[in-house]
Amino acid sequence: MLSPQSRRHFLPYQTSPQIADLPDKDKAVVILPIASVEQHGPHLPVYTDSLIVQEVLDRALARLPEEFPVWVLPLLAYGKSNEHSAFAGTITLTSETLIRVLKEIGGSVARSGFKRLVILNGHGGNTEIADFVIRDIREQTGLLVFALHVYLRVAPPSAGLTEDEQVYGIHAGDVETSILLCCHPELVRRELAPASIPAHLKTFKHPPFMGPLTFAWLTPDITANGVLGDATVANAEKGERYLSDAATQIAELLRDIADFSFA
Ligand SMILES: [Zn+2]
Repeated sequence: MLSPQSRRHFLPYQTSPQIADLPDKDKAVVILPIASVEQHGPHLPVYTDSLIVQEVLDRALARLPEEFPVWVLPLLAYGKSNEHSAFAGTITLTSETLIRVLKEIGGSVARSGFKRLVILNGHGGNTEIADFVIRDIREQTGLLVFALHVYLRVAPPSAGLTEDEQVYGIHAGDVETSILLCCHPELVRRELAPASIPAHLKTFKHPPFMGPLTFAWLTPDITANGVLGDATVANAEKGERYLSDAATQIAELLRDIADFSFA
């Protein structure tokens, strides 16, 4: 849930006539946060990505002037998480469903008279879909549409991370555990946090997640416990830094989006 300070920007708290008559609709930025409900190892909740994207957004809003025209939609917690579907607690949409949901939300935002829509994504598995759907929404509605991928392209963390963690630590490792220790420590089962960068990953001729050969993977193909990264070295101070860096960068990008024009 958004902080009290950010609730003023929560679009569904307005009435329909209020939304119809909002001023500044040409500039107003509508944000749809999307994330996942998926396994994050033995130590983090399945809601991790959703908690993180909401926290980052909350902090970004706090960095903007009160009068900045930004409206937040309810978090779409369900994402495309079929890489984790073998693990209990993963609740995933198919890619086809997620594509349709995003397009239909985009259509509704346009019918409400807005001009700018941002998909603020907190889950790696949604990335490709968000990237191509924004073009489809633009084509179908005329909206200006943007995708921000937190911790992938926006504020990718490196401070305090080992080289291995920067390459392989993509899921429930140091970064996500540090962030949860900072903003939701009561949900972290620290005593169960693993160090989990399977040795065989480094023997692949082509490194996973980057390089010239893109291959499909499911989580059980590469890690038995569902974790990729070293969660044992996580701490709240690192988490604070990652949250703060992402919030600062997103606040700046939202300003750019409010001013964005093709003309
Ligand atoms: Zn995650």
